[in-house]
Amino acid sequence: MTTPPFDPADPIGIDDLLTDDEKAIRDAVRTRCEAVIAPNIAEWFESGRLPVSEIAKEFGELGVLGMHLTGYGCAGLSAVDYGLACLELEAADSGLRSLVSVQGSLAMYAIWRFGSEEQKERWLPSMASGDAIGCFGLTEPDHGSDPAGMRTRARRDGTDWVLDGRKMWITNGSVSDVAVVWAGTEDGIRGFVVPTNTPGFEAPEITRKLSLRASVTSELVLNDVRVPADAALDVRGLKGPLSCLNEARYGIVWGSMGAGRSAFETALAYATAREQFGKPIAAFQLTQQKLADMAVELAKGQLLALHLGRRKDAGSLRPEQVSVGKLNNVREALEICRTARTILGANGISLEYPVIRHAANLESVLTYEGTVEMHTLVLGQALTGHSAFRG
Ligand code: FAD
Repeated sequence: MTTPPFDPADPIGIDDLLTDDEKAIRDAVRTRCEAVIAPNIAEWFESGRLPVSEIAKEFGELGVLGMHLTGYGCAGLSAVDYGLACLELEAADSGLRSLVSVQGSLAMYAIWRFGSEEQKERWLPSMASGDAIGCFGLTEPDHGSDPAGMRTRARRDGTDWVLDGRKMWITNGSVSDVAVVWAGTEDGIRGFVVPTNTPGFEAPEITRKLSLRASVTSELVLNDVRVPADAALDVRGLKGPLSCLNEARYGIVWGSMGAGRSAFETALAYATAREQFGKPIAAFQLTQQKLADMAVELAKGQLLALHLGRRKDAGSLRPEQVSVGKLNNVREALEICRTARTILGANGISLEYPVIRHAANLESVLTYEGTVEMHTLVLGQALTGHSAFRG
């Protein structure tokens, strides 16, 4: 048997670990992103304006919104399929992957897992098709990594609930039709499905971001927002939002490798074409060391993602294992982008190439869905039995 040729796009042959169906899903997402996102993304990023509803419909047609959920118009695909889609989406831009993650893994998942039958029927099919957009409001101005102390409150009034408070840094907030809002109640933290046209609900957009510019980020302001009894999700305590975050973090384990791959491919092509001192910069040992390190980290990160994905599909994936993936893969993807940027020299800071855009985006990805420090502490606690979250 002859060994297959070396493939710079897949140096250790990870493709061999994927089924034909998985590769077909990956290729379909890649092809659509290359056709629809790639020609426009630099402009969307630079202007800070994303045509969210058109893109959501595009992604709905592609079948990636809530693709790992079953029923209610969702595709019911595997965790590995979903991961591969996240990788391709984030190779286009972390902002686009964020749109899909928040829609499918946070807003839809919360309703799918904890919502009433009526709420599921009302929201999930239109969210799967991209006709309705959702957001997930957990973070507050004074409560980020430690959401337990949130100030947003929901009180009973007859059978209704009335919500008051403020949420911060909410992806898709001002373009959403429905918000999943987490609030303190007499009964602990609970989630509420809030149509954004409910009186008292406002979502001013957060501007002046230098990261995830092709993604809408907003405040949520809730003043006496009244919703019916069945708007309350059937889960109590922080395990509700944390279980949703665990879903989205899993997508980031894969997605971050997409941003890294895009930066690596750009750097490799550039290094091969760009000549200095009479030869391609790819021929210098220092450049080769950078490229080799990037390729090794990409291969390790993708193997880790695939391993966690297989565990998720087998029902054996633990949250601490997702922390290992999020911690490692976002950190390494950012390092890959920074290194790729040096290979491109001055062109590395230009939006003519995707590298600086990915690097800037990954600064947000490093922070949201649990900061790198939080995932370190999650792992530290799992390893030692000591919680170091509080002094
Ligand atoms: P803080 O919690 O104030 O942390 C600041 C720093 O202190 C961090 O480095 C942190 O790791 C460190 N730190 C905190 N506590 C400890 C400790 N015990 N030990 C060591 N270090 C510690 N939230 C949502 O609910 N929904 C969304 O859709 C959403 N989208 C987002 C989109 C973007 C672009 C961004 C940037 C954020 C988004 N977020 C969203 C918010 C995000 O989840 C929070 O920013 C994140 O949880 C961190 O909270 P914080 O920014 O308040 O930082």
